[in-house]
Amino acid sequence: MRIVLFGPPGAGKGTQARLLEERHSLTQIATGDIIREAMKNETPVGKEAKSYVEKGELVPDSVVRKLAEQAIADQDFDDFVLDGYPRTTQQAEWLTAFLEENDAPLHAVPSLHVPDDVIVDRLSKRRMHKETGDTYHLDHNPPPADVDDDMIIQRDDDRPETVRNRLAVYRDETEPLEEYYRERDLLVVVNGVGDIEDVHGRILDALEQAQTSARAE
Ligand code: ADP
Ligand code: ADP
Repeated sequence: MRIVLFGPPGAGKGTQARLLEERHSLTQIATGDIIREAMKNETPVGKEAKSYVEKGELVPDSVVRKLAEQAIADQDFDDFVLDGYPRTTQQAEWLTAFLEENDAPLHAVPSLHVPDDVIVDRLSKRRMHKETGDTYHLDHNPPPADVDDDMIIQRDDDRPETVRNRLAVYRDETEPLEEYYRERDLLVVVNGVGDIEDVHGRILDALEQAQTSARAE
């Protein structure tokens, strides 16, 4: 199955993509994780991306395109969940063309809907394991007791000023993609508020629904 998990920063895409990976053998392809790894290793892509990520801006389309296409090809064009890609119309058009050329169209685009006040709470209390990239939330999903406190950090771009900019960028550049995928009959809106397990269940229902309607055609 090939899916794009869509939603604003902090909607729970990464959390849910990891559950789909662990339990349903879909590989998570998260451009944000790939970019952070490149920044940590100070590769040419990482150096180019740094100033954009730090300001909460999008990394240029052409840079992210190469990273995403490489990861999808490495995955033999199947059994993946894209998390954080595409984020612009240009990226969405490239993705559609790239997948079509490889006979691998998307099956569904679950879109996590979460109100802004919940997003701000989630991002301000998000914490990350600096080695594994595992994501936690101080109240709802705290780091396990056996994890060393020193390994748990706040992402620089989760600080309030940057969060505000990321949300504005999302509204301007990324949110219009909902319409792009709705027009292509791929979009399934999923309520992203509630327990992580409940949201996971809703995503599975959405994927089931997408498969049933594809079979009926
Ligand atoms: P979030 O978890 O808040 O949705 P990500 O970890 O997906 O954030 O992304 C972090 C940052 O990496 C983004 O703010 C942006 O600078 C960059 N980035 C990630 N994916 C993309 C993309 N598809 N296009 C452009 N920039 C991206
Ligand atoms: P995204 O990848 O969309 O930016 P994350 O998966 O990183 O979002 O989640 C953002 C924050 O919200 C993290 O701290 C995560 O632990 C927390 N979170 C994710 N899903 C839920 C949920 N259903 N309820 C409460 N907190 C959640």
